[in-house]
Amino acid sequence: MTPADPFLSRIDAALEQRAASHLLRQRTSVRRLPKARIEVDGKQYHHFCSNDYLGLAEHPQVLNAWQQGLVQHGGGSGASPLVTGHHHAHAQLESTLCQWLGFEQALLFSSGFAANQAVLMALLDNGDLLLQDRLNHASLQEAGSLGDATMKRFRHNDLTHLETLLLNNADNAPTLVVTEGVFSMDGDCAPLAEIQRLCQAHNAWLMVDDAHGLGVLGRHGKGSCDAAGIQPDLLIVTFGKALGGSGAAVLCKKPIADYLLQRARHLIYSTALPPAQADAVSAAIKVIKSDPKPYAYISELKARFLAKLDNEIPVAASNSPILPLIVGSSEAAVMLSDKLKDAGFWVSAIRPPTVPKGSARLRITLSASHSNTQVDALADAINALWHSLPLKECQ
Ligand SMILES: *Cc1c(COP(=O)(O)O)cnc(C)c1O
Repeated sequence: MTPADPFLSRIDAALEQRAASHLLRQRTSVRRLPKARIEVDGKQYHHFCSNDYLGLAEHPQVLNAWQQGLVQHGGGSGASPLVTGHHHAHAQLESTLCQWLGFEQALLFSSGFAANQAVLMALLDNGDLLLQDRLNHASLQEAGSLGDATMKRFRHNDLTHLETLLLNNADNAPTLVVTEGVFSMDGDCAPLAEIQRLCQAHNAWLMVDDAHGLGVLGRHGKGSCDAAGIQPDLLIVTFGKALGGSGAAVLCKKPIADYLLQRARHLIYSTALPPAQADAVSAAIKVIKSDPKPYAYISELKARFLAKLDNEIPVAASNSPILPLIVGSSEAAVMLSDKLKDAGFWVSAIRPPTVPKGSARLRITLSASHSNTQVDALADAINALWHSLPLKECQ
């Protein structure tokens, strides 16, 4: 008998276990349709889990900039940024970001995941202290675990816990505090002004990952920090959410950017974004800047949706386009998601380990592309389905 293949047996067992606990993850291939709809396997759905909050992934000015950019600069950037991959279009986007958000320097990355990992790994040395909100994005948690600094996680948005950890830093290790502006799975905002005050009192730096706040919150969509009236030492913005593209940037003072350029491996050893994409992101920023309150319409939609939803349905009223409907068990979350699909709505179930155990949810997102009719229909569908869920098991 040939011995069992150790990798394959491990893989088979893990997949079986995931499937049995309703946690098996699979991709779906979708086609985008106008008006916040998608087509999957020939069937059309109203789409309620996109991060394209402002509909910029299909905005004519943004698409036109992509197309013009392709004609002007060709397809790929051709190299990493320190070789010849940093085109004029990238430099222009960096300067647009700096002017818009009020920073000295911006550095582009191919994704928010890469930017977060690169910054934490490049900045922090052995003996440093890294304090993170417990609900920070996986890219931040993972970089913290892999990196050289001592990482401690504070309870979600808990200023007292953060202060305790800052006070415990007896040997005054250089300290970086990291939080998100808008938390991606809950849609709630960090108390940024208070966090910054604590950081200043304890000589710590503050880094804010504003993936879900940029373009939506603040004046002219400048994001969570603008809304809170603060400026962090490091700001991470991503282009894959409200800006309707992909890629990311870190914004900071010039010497920090110069230092990151020497050490940020995800930038140094990776092909730069396609320059046409940089043009498209610049165009998206132009569209957002022209609107004093990009979030106003979504905010109205949200009020309408929450008013229509039965009172007993536990949707947290966040200050963002993200509305988590916390169902509890993974099984019930998947069941609700499947039933909504049958009714013509696509809302993915988010399960552990992406969210804490027992808090599986539907992460409903609203966008400027949704109509009142679509939002009313989703509320009606959830109201009708709610009682059929196996909710007792999960409380
Ligand atoms: C989406 C997201 C990221 C990752 O950004 P990508 O550009 O998609 O890699 C990082 N942080 C937060 C909070 C996010 O929501």
